[in-house]
Amino acid sequence: MIVTDTHTHLYSEAFNDDRNDMIKRALDENISRFFIPAIDSTYTEAMFQLERDYPNHVFLMMGLHPTHVKDNYKDELKHVEDMLSKRKFYAVGEIGIDLYWDKSTLKIQQEAFKYQIQLAKKHKLPIAIHCREAFDEIFEVLETEKSDDLFGIFHCFTGTLEQAHQAISYNMKLGIGGVITFKNGKIDQFLKEIDLKHIVLETDAPYLAPVPFRGKRNESVYIIKVLEKLSELYNMPSKDIAEITTQNSKDIFKI
Ligand SMILES: [Zn+2]
Repeated sequence: MIVTDTHTHLYSEAFNDDRNDMIKRALDENISRFFIPAIDSTYTEAMFQLERDYPNHVFLMMGLHPTHVKDNYKDELKHVEDMLSKRKFYAVGEIGIDLYWDKSTLKIQQEAFKYQIQLAKKHKLPIAIHCREAFDEIFEVLETEKSDDLFGIFHCFTGTLEQAHQAISYNMKLGIGGVITFKNGKIDQFLKEIDLKHIVLETDAPYLAPVPFRGKRNESVYIIKVLEKLSELYNMPSKDIAEITTQNSKDIFKI
Protein backbone atom coordinates (compact mmCIF):
# COMPACT_ATOMS: atom_id res chain seq x y z
CA MET A 1 0.00 0.00 0.00
CA ILE A 2 1.24 3.47 -0.91
CA VAL A 3 -0.64 6.51 0.35
CA THR A 4 -0.28 9.83 -1.46
CA ASP A 5 -0.73 13.13 0.35
CA THR A 6 -1.59 15.46 -2.53
CA HIS A 7 -1.49 18.65 -0.45
CA THR A 8 0.84 19.17 2.50
CA HIS A 9 2.91 22.11 3.71
CA LEU A 10 5.84 20.10 5.11
CA TYR A 11 8.10 23.17 4.95
CA SER A 12 5.86 25.05 7.41
CA GLU A 13 7.42 26.63 10.52
CA ALA A 14 5.03 24.42 12.49
CA PHE A 15 7.40 21.50 11.79
CA ASN A 16 10.70 23.25 12.51
CA ASP A 17 11.28 21.33 15.75
CA ASP A 18 10.57 17.80 14.52
CA ARG A 19 10.22 17.80 10.73
CA ASN A 20 12.35 14.69 10.09
CA ASP A 21 10.69 12.67 12.85
CA MET A 22 7.27 13.70 11.60
CA ILE A 23 8.10 12.65 8.03
CA LYS A 24 9.55 9.37 9.30
CA ARG A 25 6.31 8.59 11.15
CA ALA A 26 4.51 8.93 7.83
CA LEU A 27 7.05 6.95 5.79
CA ASP A 28 6.83 4.11 8.33
CA GLU A 29 3.08 3.85 7.52
CA ASN A 30 3.69 3.88 3.73
CA ILE A 31 2.61 7.48 3.33
CA SER A 32 5.43 8.17 0.95
CA ARG A 33 4.39 10.63 -1.77
CA PHE A 34 4.05 14.25 -0.73
CA PHE A 35 2.88 17.01 -3.06
CA ILE A 36 3.88 20.40 -1.74
CA PRO A 37 1.84 23.50 -2.59
CA ALA A 38 3.54 26.89 -2.61
CA ILE A 39 2.31 29.97 -0.73
CA ASP A 40 4.59 32.82 -1.83
CA SER A 41 8.23 33.52 -2.65
CA THR A 42 9.29 33.67 1.01
CA TYR A 43 8.86 29.87 1.22
CA THR A 44 10.58 28.89 -2.02
CA GLU A 45 13.99 28.22 -0.47
CA ALA A 46 12.47 26.06 2.29
CA MET A 47 10.64 24.04 -0.37
CA PHE A 48 13.87 23.44 -2.28
CA GLN A 49 15.56 22.31 0.94
CA LEU A 50 12.75 19.83 1.57
CA GLU A 51 13.19 18.47 -1.95
CA ARG A 52 16.95 18.07 -1.41
CA ASP A 53 16.28 16.20 1.83
CA TYR A 54 13.59 13.88 0.37
CA PRO A 55 14.17 13.71 -3.39
CA ASN A 56 12.21 10.46 -3.81
CA HIS A 57 9.21 11.53 -1.77
CA VAL A 58 8.69 15.25 -2.22
CA PHE A 59 7.18 16.82 -5.35
CA LEU A 60 6.93 20.59 -5.51
CA MET A 61 4.26 22.90 -6.86
CA MET A 62 4.74 26.58 -7.65
CA GLY A 63 2.15 29.32 -7.22
CA LEU A 64 0.84 32.30 -5.28
CA HIS A 65 -1.74 31.49 -2.59
CA PRO A 66 -4.87 33.69 -2.78
CA THR A 67 -4.51 35.00 0.79
CA HIS A 68 -1.02 36.20 -0.19
CA VAL A 69 -2.24 38.21 -3.18
CA LYS A 70 -1.35 41.66 -1.82
CA ASP A 71 0.04 44.96 -3.12
CA ASN A 72 3.18 43.19 -4.38
CA TYR A 73 1.27 40.50 -6.28
CA LYS A 74 2.77 41.41 -9.65
CA ASP A 75 6.28 40.74 -8.30
CA GLU A 76 5.06 37.49 -6.78
CA LEU A 77 3.50 36.37 -10.06
CA LYS A 78 6.75 37.19 -11.81
CA HIS A 79 8.53 34.91 -9.32
CA VAL A 80 6.06 32.11 -10.07
CA GLU A 81 6.53 32.58 -13.80
CA ASP A 82 10.35 32.66 -13.54
CA MET A 83 10.46 29.55 -11.40
CA LEU A 84 8.16 27.62 -13.74
CA SER A 85 10.40 28.42 -16.68
CA LYS A 86 13.58 27.49 -14.80
CA ARG A 87 12.90 24.00 -13.44
CA LYS A 88 10.44 21.17 -12.99
CA PHE A 89 7.33 21.57 -10.83
CA TYR A 90 4.42 19.14 -10.71
CA ALA A 91 1.54 21.62 -10.52
CA VAL A 92 0.66 25.30 -10.28
CA GLY A 93 -0.69 25.78 -6.78
CA GLU A 94 -2.08 26.61 -4.58
CA ILE A 95 -4.10 29.19 -6.42
CA GLY A 96 -7.69 30.37 -6.25
CA ILE A 97 -9.91 32.76 -4.34
CA ASP A 98 -10.40 33.21 -0.59
CA LEU A 99 -13.12 35.59 0.58
CA TYR A 100 -13.01 34.46 4.20
CA TRP A 101 -9.91 36.42 5.13
CA ASP A 102 -10.18 39.43 2.85
CA LYS A 103 -12.91 40.47 0.41
CA SER A 104 -11.23 43.73 -0.54
CA THR A 105 -8.66 41.92 -2.71
CA LEU A 106 -11.22 40.01 -4.81
CA LYS A 107 -10.33 41.78 -8.06
CA ILE A 108 -6.61 41.09 -7.84
CA GLN A 109 -7.26 37.55 -6.56
CA GLN A 110 -9.33 36.87 -9.67
CA GLU A 111 -6.61 38.35 -11.86
CA ALA A 112 -3.86 36.28 -10.16
CA PHE A 113 -5.96 33.10 -10.40
CA LYS A 114 -6.59 33.55 -14.12
CA TYR A 115 -2.99 34.42 -14.83
CA GLN A 116 -1.72 31.33 -13.03
CA ILE A 117 -4.24 29.08 -14.81
CA GLN A 118 -2.76 30.35 -18.05
CA LEU A 119 0.76 29.56 -16.80
CA ALA A 120 -0.39 26.03 -15.96
CA LYS A 121 -1.78 25.55 -19.44
CA LYS A 122 1.41 26.88 -20.99
CA HIS A 123 3.52 24.40 -18.99
CA LYS A 124 0.94 21.59 -19.35
CA LEU A 125 0.62 21.31 -15.58
CA PRO A 126 -2.36 20.63 -13.33
CA ILE A 127 -3.58 23.29 -10.89
CA ALA A 128 -4.31 22.95 -7.17
CA ILE A 129 -7.27 25.16 -6.27
CA HIS A 130 -7.81 26.83 -2.90
CA CYS A 131 -11.44 27.91 -2.45
CA ARG A 132 -12.82 29.48 0.69
CA GLU A 133 -16.26 31.09 0.67
CA ALA A 134 -15.76 31.63 -3.04
CA PHE A 135 -17.38 28.79 -5.02
CA ASP A 136 -19.29 31.14 -7.35
CA GLU A 137 -16.23 33.29 -7.99
CA ILE A 138 -13.99 30.24 -8.64
CA PHE A 139 -16.51 28.60 -10.96
CA GLU A 140 -16.87 31.87 -12.87
CA VAL A 141 -13.13 31.82 -13.64
CA LEU A 142 -13.11 28.09 -14.45
CA GLU A 143 -16.05 28.59 -16.81
CA THR A 144 -14.09 31.15 -18.84
CA GLU A 145 -10.84 29.14 -18.74
CA LYS A 146 -12.21 25.60 -19.18
CA SER A 147 -10.52 23.49 -21.83
CA ASP A 148 -9.01 20.03 -22.31
CA ASP A 149 -5.66 21.26 -21.01
CA LEU A 150 -7.14 22.68 -17.78
CA PHE A 151 -7.19 20.00 -15.07
CA GLY A 152 -6.16 19.47 -11.48
CA ILE A 153 -7.42 19.21 -7.92
CA PHE A 154 -10.04 21.11 -5.99
CA HIS A 155 -8.05 21.07 -2.76
CA CYS A 156 -9.90 20.62 0.57
CA PHE A 157 -13.23 20.26 -1.16
CA THR A 158 -16.03 21.34 1.21
CA GLY A 159 -18.94 22.09 -1.15
CA THR A 160 -22.27 20.44 -1.88
CA LEU A 161 -22.93 17.42 -4.10
CA GLU A 162 -23.94 19.78 -6.90
CA GLN A 163 -20.71 21.77 -6.50
CA ALA A 164 -18.76 18.50 -6.52
CA HIS A 165 -20.29 17.56 -9.88
CA GLN A 166 -19.54 21.03 -11.20
CA ALA A 167 -15.88 20.84 -10.08
CA ILE A 168 -15.56 17.42 -11.74
CA SER A 169 -17.03 18.83 -14.95
CA TYR A 170 -13.99 21.16 -15.13
CA ASN A 171 -11.59 18.15 -15.01
CA MET A 172 -10.94 18.58 -11.29
CA LYS A 173 -10.47 15.81 -8.76
CA LEU A 174 -11.72 16.44 -5.23
CA GLY A 175 -9.03 16.70 -2.54
CA ILE A 176 -10.45 15.04 0.57
CA GLY A 177 -8.83 15.60 3.96
CA GLY A 178 -9.58 15.98 7.66
CA VAL A 179 -12.92 17.75 7.11
CA ILE A 180 -14.45 14.40 6.09
CA THR A 181 -14.06 13.29 9.73
CA PHE A 182 -15.74 16.40 11.20
CA LYS A 183 -19.25 16.00 12.63
CA ASN A 184 -20.38 19.21 10.93
CA GLY A 185 -18.22 18.71 7.82
CA LYS A 186 -21.26 17.81 5.65
CA ILE A 187 -19.35 16.19 2.75
CA ASP A 188 -19.52 12.79 4.50
CA GLN A 189 -23.29 12.92 3.83
CA PHE A 190 -22.97 12.57 0.06
CA LEU A 191 -19.39 11.68 -0.81
CA LYS A 192 -20.14 8.04 -1.55
CA GLU A 193 -22.24 9.22 -4.50
CA ILE A 194 -19.01 10.44 -6.10
CA ASP A 195 -16.99 7.75 -7.87
CA LEU A 196 -13.59 7.16 -6.26
CA LYS A 197 -11.91 7.90 -9.57
CA HIS A 198 -12.57 11.58 -8.81
CA ILE A 199 -11.02 11.55 -5.33
CA VAL A 200 -7.51 12.17 -4.03
CA LEU A 201 -6.32 12.29 -0.43
CA GLU A 202 -4.64 15.16 1.36
CA THR A 203 -3.84 16.47 4.82
CA ASP A 204 -3.23 20.22 4.26
CA ALA A 205 -0.85 19.79 7.20
CA PRO A 206 -0.25 21.61 9.50
CA TYR A 207 -3.91 22.70 9.14
CA LEU A 208 -7.24 20.83 9.38
CA ALA A 209 -6.26 17.85 11.50
CA PRO A 210 -8.81 15.02 11.38
CA VAL A 211 -10.77 13.77 14.39
CA PRO A 212 -9.52 12.84 17.03
CA PHE A 213 -6.75 15.42 16.51
CA ARG A 214 -9.07 18.22 15.38
CA GLY A 215 -7.77 21.63 16.45
CA LYS A 216 -4.21 20.36 16.94
CA ARG A 217 -1.29 20.54 14.52
CA ASN A 218 -1.97 18.24 11.59
CA GLU A 219 0.76 15.95 10.28
CA SER A 220 1.12 13.53 7.40
CA VAL A 221 0.57 10.28 9.29
CA TYR A 222 -2.94 11.45 10.27
CA ILE A 223 -4.01 10.88 6.67
CA ILE A 224 -4.69 7.33 7.90
CA LYS A 225 -7.77 8.74 9.69
CA VAL A 226 -9.04 10.13 6.38
CA LEU A 227 -8.37 6.78 4.73
CA GLU A 228 -10.28 4.95 7.47
CA LYS A 229 -13.25 7.29 7.10
CA LEU A 230 -13.36 6.75 3.33
CA SER A 231 -13.07 3.01 3.87
CA GLU A 232 -16.19 3.22 6.05
CA LEU A 233 -18.12 5.49 3.62
CA TYR A 234 -17.30 3.43 0.52
CA ASN A 235 -17.38 0.10 2.35
CA MET A 236 -14.04 -0.86 0.88
CA PRO A 237 -10.68 -1.85 2.45
CA SER A 238 -8.32 1.07 3.20
CA LYS A 239 -5.61 -0.45 1.05
CA ASP A 240 -7.91 -0.39 -2.01
CA ILE A 241 -8.80 3.25 -1.37
CA ALA A 242 -5.09 4.03 -1.02
CA GLU A 243 -4.34 2.27 -4.30
CA ILE A 244 -7.10 4.01 -6.27
CA THR A 245 -6.36 7.47 -4.91
CA THR A 246 -2.61 7.04 -5.44
CA GLN A 247 -3.30 6.04 -9.04
CA ASN A 248 -5.50 9.14 -9.40
CA SER A 249 -2.63 11.28 -8.13
CA LYS A 250 -0.30 9.70 -10.71
CA ASP A 251 -2.78 10.47 -13.48
CA ILE A 252 -2.83 14.12 -12.44
CA PHE A 253 0.79 14.80 -11.57
CA LYS A 254 2.31 12.40 -14.16
CA ILE A 255 4.57 10.89 -11.52
ZN1 LIG B 1 -2.81 24.46 1.56
